[in-house]
Amino acid sequence: MYRAPVEEIAFTLKEVAGLRAAVEEGLFGDLSLDLVDAILAEAGRFASEEVAPLYKAGDEHGAVLEDAAVATPPGWADLYRRWTEGGWNALTGPEEFGGQGLPTMLSVATLEMWNSAALAFALCPTLTMGAVEALHKHAADELKRTYLAKLVSGEWTGTMNLTEPQAGSDLNALRARAERAPDGSYRIFGQKIFITYGEQDFTDNIVHLVLARLPDAPQGTRGISLFLVPKFLVEADGSLGRRNDVFCASIEEKLGIHGSPTCTMIYGDGFVPGEEKGAVGWLIGEENKGLACMFTMMNNARLAIGLEGVGVAEAAFQKALAFANERRQGKASSYSGDGMAPIVHHPDVQRMLLTMQALTRIARSISYACAHAIDMSRVSRGSDKTHWQERANLLTPIAKAFSTDIGSEVTSLGIQVHGGMGYVEETGAAALYRDARIASIYEGTNGIQAIDLVTRKLPQAGGDHVYGYIGELDAIANAVAALNHDGFGRTALNLEQALDDLQQATRYLQNKLAEGRTDDALAGATPYLRLFALASGGAYLARAALADSDPGRIALCRFFAENMLVETSALKACVTGGAASLATAANALIAA
Ligand SMILES: Cc1cc2nc3c(=O)[nH]c(=O)nc-3n(C[C@H](O)[C@H](O)[C@H](O)COP(=O)(O)OP(=O)(O)OC[C@H]3O[C@@H](n4cnc5c(N)ncnc54)[C@H](O)[C@@H]3O)c2cc1C
Repeated sequence: MYRAPVEEIAFTLKEVAGLRAAVEEGLFGDLSLDLVDAILAEAGRFASEEVAPLYKAGDEHGAVLEDAAVATPPGWADLYRRWTEGGWNALTGPEEFGGQGLPTMLSVATLEMWNSAALAFALCPTLTMGAVEALHKHAADELKRTYLAKLVSGEWTGTMNLTEPQAGSDLNALRARAERAPDGSYRIFGQKIFITYGEQDFTDNIVHLVLARLPDAPQGTRGISLFLVPKFLVEADGSLGRRNDVFCASIEEKLGIHGSPTCTMIYGDGFVPGEEKGAVGWLIGEENKGLACMFTMMNNARLAIGLEGVGVAEAAFQKALAFANERRQGKASSYSGDGMAPIVHHPDVQRMLLTMQALTRIARSISYACAHAIDMSRVSRGSDKTHWQERANLLTPIAKAFSTDIGSEVTSLGIQVHGGMGYVEETGAAALYRDARIASIYEGTNGIQAIDLVTRKLPQAGGDHVYGYIGELDAIANAVAALNHDGFGRTALNLEQALDDLQQATRYLQNKLAEGRTDDALAGATPYLRLFALASGGAYLARAALADSDPGRIALCRFFAENMLVETSALKACVTGGAASLATAANALIAA
């Protein structure tokens, strides 16, 4: 069973991602490191002792739809009640609406734990937190007064409604429509698919954020508006009024995250007897500017989805390590005991476990560093603020895509460590693998994240921001070199090489974009994102080993540098030399 790695999480936050320095400088008001430790310890207890035991019920039972109502897995509604009563939903919510206003770094650390314990459960509050952020930033005061406090406390939940059958990655194709009503509200019509927790039995109201087009809207994404559509209308005194014309028509059968209902939502189909057709909604932000508002929610959500990758990877690593210590097969020279050796003594199993551990730690470091940049951008002013916003922008697609890619990689290795027992359901290794897979797809597929990194994030600050970041990572490599400690082996050299690979690949892509050869740059976007993550992750492992001279930490850093970081040169070759062959082979594929 999952045990929250509270010490490792606290260490990564403070020593790798920058929380200690920020707290000591007083950037987060009266937040102390003691308070951080206390929050993490209690979250760890709750995740390990209360959430994780209900994971299996979620996977085996799943969510069930009956008469447009969803029953979540046994025990989950009560778990949600206890979880919100513990104040966990309100951790980072705005203080004027009852939130605790704590930094994003704490939110991601606790989110990792909920995701490890039961990803499908954690998805519900993940979306609510995104809705809180979008409303807080863009909604009119009256909407804030009516909805925010209840969303912050978790008394109501939020959803995000973008996807339609013909509009997935490409929101230009969106068809849901909105009509202006005489009283200033709107009526929403259309179908949304794949809506996470579009219906549930945790709370008595659900607040849907819905993208739709007004009749006179411009074509494409410049003509999309964002609306708030509650399941039940809210009376002036805050009590619930009549049912709105929105309902859940079906839920999906799917590979994993069985406890999370994935709903087809129908808006404005005359669901409520005696009422006119049309779901009553209110505009968030300005007409036709909905995508920008939704992006507030999506950026927050993208980092949160990255934490899903970290969370499932951590759970898979713990499970595999425990199994490898128990299961005995064959002989191993490092094992001097009686009988067959525990498989953890076989070098190939050791390689799998260390790969799992290293990938999980670097994904955690990148994600927490991204959260740090978000927090710093909030507390900074002027050019510092711009700097930290650019840093958060740069790291968000990497945190999302790399962490979720390694979520699949690590959970797959977790099955491999278990052998046949990993493939059957009994050990739970297979369930983690099934759960992990979705995170590379939703919230913008990982392919779209790589495109975002190359075409929107690399050009920031005239193309210079990224080199400042690489320079900071170089300083870590130099510090390892200066230490001249045998335990680090070839870490400094390999890290310098990886950062050089990153620099060259970056320059190549920027040149291609400047020449207008966008397809050449896009051909290398996915390998570039992995190269970026491995190089920065190697530097973060080194920073951790420099901060804490624990021999295990140094050994893991060296293992990564000498066994995995070397991949960056191959990735650079692919980014800088792969586009022409890709285009030729693809032409043949399409022609056939
Ligand atoms: C379980 C689950 C939960 C979900 N929850 C929600 C939710 O709560 N709210 C919501 O609105 N949506 C949700 N979604 C939808 C999800 O966000 C979409 O599935 C996702 O955005 C991809 O869209 P698509 O499925 O239409 O794939 P497509 O857009 O058809 O993509 C198919 C493939 O083509 C690639 N591709 C597409 N366009 C490009 C391009 N321009 N360049 C390069 N490659 C491209 C993609 O990367 C992908 O590999 C959920 C989906 C699932 C399965």
